Amino acid sequence: MNRFLYLALLACFLWACHEKPRPGSPEHIREVTGGIDDSVLTHAGERQGDWLTYGLDYQEDRYSSLEQINKDNIKTLGLEWSLPLGTQRGLEATALVDDGIMFVTGPWSVVFAIDVRKGTMIWTYDPKVPREHGEKTCCDVVNRGAALYKGKVYVGALDGRLIALDAATGSPIWSVMTVDTTKPYAITGAPRIVDGKVIIGNGGAEFGVRGYVTAYDANTGQQVWRFYTVPGDPSKPFESKAMETAAKTWTGEWWKYGGGGTCWDAMAYDPALKLLYIGTGNGSPWNRQYRSPGGGDNLYLSSIVALNPATGELVWYFQETPGESWDFTATQPIVLADLIIKGQPRKVLMQAPKNGFFYVLDRTNGAFISADPYVYVNWAKGVDSVTGRPIENDFARYTGQNSDVAPNYDGGHNWHPMAYNPKTGLVYIPARENVGMYGHDASWIYNKRGGGTGNGWNVAIGYDSSKPTHRDTAAEKADPKGMLIAWDPVRRKEVWRVDQGSNWNGGLLATAGDIVFQGTEDGYFIAYDASTGAVLWKVTIGGGVIAPPVTYMVDGKQYVTLVAGWGGGVGMKFKGAPLQPGRIYTFALGGAAVMPVPLQQAVVPTIPDIPFTATPQEVAHGKELFRGYCSTCHVIAHGGGGLAPDLAYASAVTHQSFLAIVYRGAYLPFGMPRFGDRLSEKDVQDIQKFILTSAKAAKAR
Ligand code: CA
Repeated sequence: MNRFLYLALLACFLWACHEKPRPGSPEHIREVTGGIDDSVLTHAGERQGDWLTYGLDYQEDRYSSLEQINKDNIKTLGLEWSLPLGTQRGLEATALVDDGIMFVTGPWSVVFAIDVRKGTMIWTYDPKVPREHGEKTCCDVVNRGAALYKGKVYVGALDGRLIALDAATGSPIWSVMTVDTTKPYAITGAPRIVDGKVIIGNGGAEFGVRGYVTAYDANTGQQVWRFYTVPGDPSKPFESKAMETAAKTWTGEWWKYGGGGTCWDAMAYDPALKLLYIGTGNGSPWNRQYRSPGGGDNLYLSSIVALNPATGELVWYFQETPGESWDFTATQPIVLADLIIKGQPRKVLMQAPKNGFFYVLDRTNGAFISADPYVYVNWAKGVDSVTGRPIENDFARYTGQNSDVAPNYDGGHNWHPMAYNPKTGLVYIPARENVGMYGHDASWIYNKRGGGTGNGWNVAIGYDSSKPTHRDTAAEKADPKGMLIAWDPVRRKEVWRVDQGSNWNGGLLATAGDIVFQGTEDGYFIAYDASTGAVLWKVTIGGGVIAPPVTYMVDGKQYVTLVAGWGGGVGMKFKGAPLQPGRIYTFALGGAAVMPVPLQQAVVPTIPDIPFTATPQEVAHGKELFRGYCSTCHVIAHGGGGLAPDLAYASAVTHQSFLAIVYRGAYLPFGMPRFGDRLSEKDVQDIQKFILTSAKAAKAR
């Protein structure tokens, strides 16, 4: 036999014998996730079929170039499979998918690995976050996603750990504590991977912490750098030149209150410019009159900071809300794009932060390009076209009076990801309009209500009945309402909007099939026409949805996955649909699985008649304690509650167990804190008397 022919036949034989690992097997997962390196992440958006990093790519535009599912055939989109997760709290995660292997995070930072081909669970990892940690979160025990790199899955745990898992098995490889555990920090955001480093921030600015972001070596977990967003005690050496500059913009003794500026969500990266962009949070406490009594911009609160990812050094910053005093975070998702503005190609960074203005910045140097209101705004007349500084209205700072401020602490847009479609040139924003009453809380003392770890709602705002009130009755009347907005960032205007009955709706996905996908608070999964906002397809989920959908391709077939589980900040207190256990839904063209039947509950039940006695002093004391300890999660006679029950409807049995639940921690496994370590039995009874008094008054109305 010809020697070359022999070798060729041998090669063919060996190739045929080389068995590809079975999809979903540890060997297969190791092989596919092991290939995710810096080059793959840099081109993640071009890699059709997978969803490898939080925002789909480093630009975080959530625009998929897949178009197998498009507006002409979407009518045949159907359920392929659904999988219950066994969760009861909010699901905010973006699912990551690599060759049909899906990684999703859930409440209490649990990680799920799922086989998309079969719709089955491969492994689950539970970091066993102590349930006491639930009270260190303003906004539910959520997690927004994992990161994938060289065979590992990275997750930030609620209690401040950053954990690296073996993607094939879910076994921990390393774990590092990223926070001072004596302070009320929590992690809910997704880590990002940049040049072999895992970048992670944290939250806690409602309770009194100093914000920062840290980079760890992805392989070993060793800390590489840390960037603080606000200055510490100026009697000690500054960590960086940036902190020295920032300290000049603060007054008083801010460091005793933490200062805030937590980086709890937004990041994006430009590999060509080698700049890492981070959005920073609100001041801690919110009220600048306490935090920095002599005024000042308070750098780098409510800012976009651009960092050198190798060193963590500040390259440029842009502060959206100087002297932040309303919980106006700049942590809302950041999207990078290349636009033609006034005939010039510009590398831009776009954000729709809580303060209600849509910002376009030059991401090479932080230069201001434009900022325009994308929702109703009353706190500022506009933004100066040269400096980019807001032009505040007199009443906005609630110094001499209480003030209705729009948007409020929940923001014109919150964490729910927006998406940018370069084909339509539109940014799609899951927006909301709202108004909040702000007043100076003259009785505020830092940590007055603090417990063992110093937490407690520490925002220093409250209605002051001794002062006049600036009302905005039109805004109050409309509060709150939700809408999906298509925004043209070049022409600086809204192109279309869909007014939605619900106001805490899910994050977005845009595709080359000319579709915008969104789940809603009132329990639907909807596909909108990217050019007009017309509803192309709609299916009933039942429970409220907050997470953004993702799309990907497996074995030549395009899928759309929605993670559904009601919760989050607003979701703790309110809901627009009956609560459902957490579930993942995966759709494809021609999918013929039957949609699970949602559980039905009365959205607003009746208030029971429970006999009790109370003195006005007890009720007043209980009211004060309720505000400090309970009102972050619970309402009384205000719409039936969300994840946390509306206490007006608490049953006689619940009231009989009140001390066991509130004082002794009977519901700790569900995340309801135990208050016996900081309240007396009498305190707890007074809270109960306030609840019963309020419920009785509501029933009489
Ligand atoms: Ca906040």
